[in-house]
Amino acid sequence: MSTKTFLRNGAAGFLFLTGVTAPQRRAVGRLSIATFHRVLHEAERQAYPFPGLAVTPEELDAFLAYFTEYFDCGTLARQHERYLGSEATARPLLALTFDDAQHDNYRNARPLLARHHIKATFFAPVIAVERQELLWHDRMGFAVLALLQQPRGGRERLMEILANAGLSGNGPLSLVRNAVHEAKGLALEARLHLVEELAAAADGSHPPEFARLMTFGELAELAADGHEIGSHSMTHCLMPECDDRALAYEVGESRRILQARLGQPIETFCYPNGNTDARTARAVAGAGYRRAVTTAWGSNGRETDHFRLRRCDMVTEHARDSRGNIVPATVAFRMSGLYPGLK
Ligand SMILES: [Zn+2]
Repeated sequence: MSTKTFLRNGAAGFLFLTGVTAPQRRAVGRLSIATFHRVLHEAERQAYPFPGLAVTPEELDAFLAYFTEYFDCGTLARQHERYLGSEATARPLLALTFDDAQHDNYRNARPLLARHHIKATFFAPVIAVERQELLWHDRMGFAVLALLQQPRGGRERLMEILANAGLSGNGPLSLVRNAVHEAKGLALEARLHLVEELAAAADGSHPPEFARLMTFGELAELAADGHEIGSHSMTHCLMPECDDRALAYEVGESRRILQARLGQPIETFCYPNGNTDARTARAVAGAGYRRAVTTAWGSNGRETDHFRLRRCDMVTEHARDSRGNIVPATVAFRMSGLYPGLK
């Protein structure tokens, strides 16, 4: 364990014991929203290009135990309405959200949510679900990993394709994360072209079965359980890049299709990659949604715009103690906003 982690855990323990970061002090009168992405077993997480975006079922179980002890948990639609209605609750309000409608959420999160009696919100990117096609960053990530594992010349081929797209793969993270981060800066066409080229070069290697998305049928089962389904756009595009027509399609058509498929009102929108601006927020409000979430860190108060709600991304590496367990003190430290480097 690094000195930094040691100091962090020490500070977390002290602040929790003294009540400084305790939810009953920090989160009262506010709406907190937790974000999860994938829920993968450890062996799957090791094979996933972005392990930091995944929690294991055991880790999710620990997060859920913490949440039920300290918060009043529910879907975002329900918790937001209760918050707006100034409902008095014994514990502070927390909504749980899962992005991208990954099948692992259905397989691994659903039973745990049932066991903890928690309802959550799942955000579905409609075209990816419809076509059962991985989101571009996952396709790119798996192709990069496959190229790196090719015995002869895979890495050279990879670096050549990245260089042709104007990317270096250099940066503070792993090669695959650096490359995907750089690819977000490309224009849409160039980005999609790059993904196709990498997938073609990694030819013969298919993303593993565990990486697939939920079907509409599985989303409908979650809705029938009492979970909320929200829209995560049609194409998982970076919304500020869309012109007005594309924007109307991304927000309006995704809402229409999900409502038709699920028979549930679709009231919540999640900006892909968290990217938004005044124009996109207006488009979401205009399409009939009641709220939208970003990836900006923090909890929400009276001052927060309903169409730019803040969330707390649940990253395991920031919530572990020295033995690797998820413990209340470190989660509370992270969610309190006092944790260094969040702003
Ligand atoms: Zn997403």
